[in-house]
Amino acid sequence: MQRIPTEILNLPGIEVEDYTDVAGQLILNVEARTTAAICPRCQQTSHHLHQNHWYLARDSSISGRTVFLKINRRQCKCQTCGKPFSETLNFIGNRCKQTDRFAQSTVQQVLHSDIHNVALVNDLTDEEVWYQISSIKRCNILVHPFRNRTEYFVDEVMETACGLHNFRLTHRQLKAA
Ligand SMILES: [Zn+2]
Repeated sequence: MQRIPTEILNLPGIEVEDYTDVAGQLILNVEARTTAAICPRCQQTSHHLHQNHWYLARDSSISGRTVFLKINRRQCKCQTCGKPFSETLNFIGNRCKQTDRFAQSTVQQVLHSDIHNVALVNDLTDEEVWYQISSIKRCNILVHPFRNRTEYFVDEVMETACGLHNFRLTHRQLKAA
């Protein structure tokens, strides 16, 4: 089987190890190149990446083909505090079922369309789209009724909330890089 070059993935520090083609969908096995991780409790660097933990997450399409990443989020044991933890990856949040860049593109698409159509175009369910954009509700203005007499102001509120959501994801990428 031919290899898929790591450059196609365009995630710095992440290597494509292998791939499979399942009914036209690409599943890329990916792993971080780093050999160390930082303990979230005591901030000490640990080199004991002792257990592999693979899981699937949706990523942006490549040439119109649906892409899933089979990600190895390695488990570590901190030598300082003795507690186990999972390594932090800069392109996906813990327990997320999609990469940050895929979630960001979903948010952008919903702004210019609606949840049902975005679901259809991306081969997702309505619930999955809603789940991906649900953290825009961190902006309180979206969950409480507010008095508004200015035309289109509500659209601007929505755009601002979506922008803040995407900014937060970008900030996470910078922090963990
Ligand atoms: Zn520790």
